[in-house]
Amino acid sequence: MTTPAAALRVEGLSVAYGGVHAVRSLGFTVEPAQCVGIIGANGAGKTSTLKALMGQAPRTGGTIRLGDTDLTRVPAHRKVRHGIGYVPEGRHVFSGLPVEQNLLLGAVTRRWDTTTRARLREQYELFPVLGEMKDRPAGALSGGQQQMLAIGRALMSKPRLLLLDEPSMGLSPKLVGEILTVLRRLREEEALSMVLVEQNAALTFGVADHCLVMENGEVAMEGPSARLGNDPQVRRVYLGL
Ligand code: ATP
Repeated sequence: MTTPAAALRVEGLSVAYGGVHAVRSLGFTVEPAQCVGIIGANGAGKTSTLKALMGQAPRTGGTIRLGDTDLTRVPAHRKVRHGIGYVPEGRHVFSGLPVEQNLLLGAVTRRWDTTTRARLREQYELFPVLGEMKDRPAGALSGGQQQMLAIGRALMSKPRLLLLDEPSMGLSPKLVGEILTVLRRLREEEALSMVLVEQNAALTFGVADHCLVMENGEVAMEGPSARLGNDPQVRRVYLGL
C-alpha cells in the first residue's frame, strides 16, 4: 500500500475569526514521507491551522501547495481528491453505522469495486480489530478503536498527506502507545507524509521528524524533534519534566 509521497508547502498562512487572529503568518514545509508535529497549549491555533489547510477555517492570507498543485483556493470537499486525508479532532465516527460502513464513507468512490475492496483489506491489515468488528456498530468500539477507525476512514482515499488533529485525546497511556505504533508504521512503511497536531508532546516527538511549537497563533520554536525534545524549556512546559 505504498503511496506516492508529496511535499506540503505552507507560506504566510493566517486565520481570523472576526477580530480573533487565531493563526498569524505561519509557514512550514512537509518533505515527502516526513511527519511534521505541531504542539502548543489550548487555543494556540493548532486546530485552526489544520482546518485552514482543509479549507474549513476563515483563511485571511497565505498559500498552500501540495506537490506541484496550488490548493489555496480549492474547496474543502475537493481536497480529498487532491490527496489530503483528514482525521478531525474528536473522531466523529457514525456510532449507529457498522464499522465497515464508516470506513466506506472515507472512500473516494462509493462503488463497491476491487479498489474499494483492496482499500478495506489494507485497513483490516493495519488495524486487525476493525476487521474483527466490521459488522458491529462503531459506537460499540472503545475510544482507542474509534480513533483507529477515524484514521482508517481517512486512509480509505489513499491520501498522499495525512492531517491528524489530536489523535491521542482522551486515550489511556496504553492506547496512546498503540496510536504511536500505527503512526510510525504509516510513516516508515507507507512513506506517508503527515502533519500531526497534538497537546501530547511526548507522542509527537516520538513520531515527528520536525516540530513546531505554536503560541498565540505563531511559531514560537521549531526544529528536529530530537533537539526540541531535549530543550530544557520545552521539557519543562510541554513534557512536565
Ligand atoms: P485546542 O488544543 O484547544 O484545540 P488549538 O491550539 O487547536 O487549541 P484553535 O482551536 O485553533 O487552537 O483556536 C485558536 C484561537 O481561535 C483561540 O483563541 C480560539 O478561541 C479561537 N477560535 C477557534 N475557533 C473559533 C471559532 N469558530 N470562532 C471564533 N474563535 C475561534
